[in-house]
Amino acid sequence: MKLPFQIDLTGKVAVVTGAGGVLCSMFAEALAQTGAKVALLDLNEEAANAFAQEIVKNGGIAKGYCCNVLDKDSLEKAHAQVLEDFGSCDILINGAGGNNPKATTDDEYFEPEDLGKVKTFFDLDKSGVEFVFNLNFLGTLLPTQVFAKDMLEKEDASIINISSMNAYTPLTKIPAYSGAKAAISNFTQWLAVHFSRTGIRCNAIAPGFFVTKQNEKLLFHDDGTPTPRTGKILNSTPMNRFGEAQELLGALLFLVSKEASGFVNGIVIPVDGGFSAYSGV
Ligand code: NAD
Repeated sequence: MKLPFQIDLTGKVAVVTGAGGVLCSMFAEALAQTGAKVALLDLNEEAANAFAQEIVKNGGIAKGYCCNVLDKDSLEKAHAQVLEDFGSCDILINGAGGNNPKATTDDEYFEPEDLGKVKTFFDLDKSGVEFVFNLNFLGTLLPTQVFAKDMLEKEDASIINISSMNAYTPLTKIPAYSGAKAAISNFTQWLAVHFSRTGIRCNAIAPGFFVTKQNEKLLFHDDGTPTPRTGKILNSTPMNRFGEAQELLGALLFLVSKEASGFVNGIVIPVDGGFSAYSGV
């Protein structure tokens, strides 16, 4: 992978949750290329290990860990292992997150005649809504409780949360995911203020639209043709295309580098091809 620019994180320990997924495996690889020792945490141990092995094959320092970001014991266990393998955490990327079909309406607009025929707002499943809120919000708060303790003694430590476009204005169909990501942007500001008398900075990246496992079913039919939602997204993205995952790396490297962003704290950087700037008219 070619980094947009080089920063030096030699000797730093970076913990990336959700690192078995599309975006965060790439974040892990980028951080390894800056010299950081990278712990890839994921519920999917196989995926985390596979990406870690790939990094090691390319000359980086990395290891995969099985970890559930919603389970404090699992987080503590991973933390103890990372401490033993690499040392205390300097950088935490809270990447684990996602939506759930049980918290997604079938249609964008409610029509009274839809009742009983399609999944409307009234049919959203409480367990699905809880799953999405927990995964995105608690799944950011709990790892921060566990790993940020390491950072208290440091002069240069960084937490990066992953927000979304729907934190600015909610996207149709996915009220729980939209609300949970709005909570992430809010929590990013809260944490930045709370830790501001320590050496920890907390910022977030809000990706626009990137095709990954979690959204590909919403964006493409099984035969690969685009869904109407894809058309709407591209019409609302002034640059008229999906983002390339690598286009998130500049924001990541900027935010974790004290030299580049030492006085930047509590911000959410949209990387969205202009989506959040466009009124649609
Ligand atoms: P992804 O589905 O490829 O990766 C998510 C990873 O999180 C998976 O490997 C999954 O196993 C892991 N995970 C799920 N539950 C977990 C748990 N309880 N504990 C530990 N790991 C768990 O998704 P992605 O697109 O790479 O998304 C990464 C982050 O970016 C997410 O927070 C997502 O909400 C956010 N995001 C993505 C997009 C996009 O367009 N793809 C846009 C905005 C925000």
